[in-house]
Amino acid sequence: MITVKLVGHQDAFALADVLRLFFGTVTTQTPDCLMVGDESWVISSENRQALQHATAGLHTAFDVQVVTRLWLDQAALDQNQPPFLIFDQTVQKTDARRELKRQLYLLLERITDVHFPWGSLTGVRPTMIAEKLTNELKDLPHVRHDLIERWRLSGEKADLLIRTNLTEQRVLAELPLDEPLIYAGIPFCPSRCAYCSFIAQDAHHKVSWLEPYVDAMLVEARQTFSQLKVTSSAFYLGGGTPTSLPAPLLQRLLVGLKAILPLHQHAEITVEAGRPDTISAEKLQILKDFGTTRICINPQTFHDKTLQKIGRQHSVDAIYEAMAMARSFGFDHINMDLIAGLPGETPADFAVSIDKLLALAPESATVHTLAMKRSSRLFQESDRQDRDRLLINHPDPALMTMVAYAQERLIEAGLHPYYLYRQKDVAGGLENVGFSSLGHECRYNVGMMSDRRAVIGLGSGAISKRVDGTKVTRAPNDKDIAHYIGRLDELIQRKIKLFLN
Ligand code: SF4
Repeated sequence: MITVKLVGHQDAFALADVLRLFFGTVTTQTPDCLMVGDESWVISSENRQALQHATAGLHTAFDVQVVTRLWLDQAALDQNQPPFLIFDQTVQKTDARRELKRQLYLLLERITDVHFPWGSLTGVRPTMIAEKLTNELKDLPHVRHDLIERWRLSGEKADLLIRTNLTEQRVLAELPLDEPLIYAGIPFCPSRCAYCSFIAQDAHHKVSWLEPYVDAMLVEARQTFSQLKVTSSAFYLGGGTPTSLPAPLLQRLLVGLKAILPLHQHAEITVEAGRPDTISAEKLQILKDFGTTRICINPQTFHDKTLQKIGRQHSVDAIYEAMAMARSFGFDHINMDLIAGLPGETPADFAVSIDKLLALAPESATVHTLAMKRSSRLFQESDRQDRDRLLINHPDPALMTMVAYAQERLIEAGLHPYYLYRQKDVAGGLENVGFSSLGHECRYNVGMMSDRRAVIGLGSGAISKRVDGTKVTRAPNDKDIAHYIGRLDELIQRKIKLFLN
């Protein structure tokens, strides 16, 4: 059993992330006590001031300057041995959480001899730390050194992070601070992918929901933008798969949105047409009339066998047909996604997919690493033993080979990394990276993922975000479609209040 006791702070959530990296499941015994595995150690983290005050019979929270320290007590505080102090750092209060995580990571790395490619960074947006270090240290070799030596990133990940952050900063500089991004989500797909954890409804079985949903979204858009006087230069219609709506309904939605959304004349407009089997000439014409500048056609793999395994009801040929049709309609920015680590695929299989994707010359591509979500079919159908294994995402040489090959080939082909994020439960502790040719970076993706631009979200599960400097306040819509429609007025008012207050 490993027990982590929290003294002088309440960062259980953050420290649990680090423990999860190494051990998978973490349980909370009490709010200040985390437990994993069956070893016999006690790890305790605390703040010296808190310790001193505690000794004097007082308790205090972190002050502006705090000293954190973390020690390993070999099971037995009962043996009365002195604690084994491994670090003693002075940090700013605002950095205390990250420092505690870093120290816990170093300790566990030493105990287990497991080294993760992203080192002690467990957050969704690692580029934030690259930005912070670049501002503090100024020159990039120092940033790289710090990422590797202090935060324990591999050299490849440090280089990827620095490079991605530079592009992110360039794209952000082009996005006006006072303009929100706009997102609308269509939570329907032709079938459910085996790895999906999103509440996507199967469009064929939920036909009766499609019209009421589209109508509700149009009401939400109309009321929101009649009260919020804003303009925007980036709109994203995602999901789900918006093109799984029947053509007449897709037309009704997009004609309606076009009249309502306060978009600049040259705004970036992305539509997810992820599943090739939802694309037709009629729908492409509707997207063109809407002013779509970027569409996503997402193969995920170029192997028919894998497509079947993951529950996609189309063939590789359908990907080629959809691509050719989209080009014939003049779409000059097509994004394609692939996933590394799909069931049964080897590095050689994945390399074939990367090469085939590049032969189609998309303007941008996103390479995901499979994330094993507990609510996905893949996870639910695995047996108990497999589940325990699936929840531990130790570095995986085969996956690392796939991701490294993808990054090398895409960069060689002139696509550079422009945004990056990491999901919880991602295989091998790896990342998702968006690549694009110069000038084809998706502004919405960068602004939304950086948490540096406000987002007005429409539709079930859409999250609106207000951003004040580094403070982000969110107003999520209900994920459940019936609840979303039922509570529409209340959700609209909550969103308007978020931005008007
Ligand atoms: S296309 Fe995306 S949202 Fe739809 S089922 Fe597959 S993973 Fe889920």
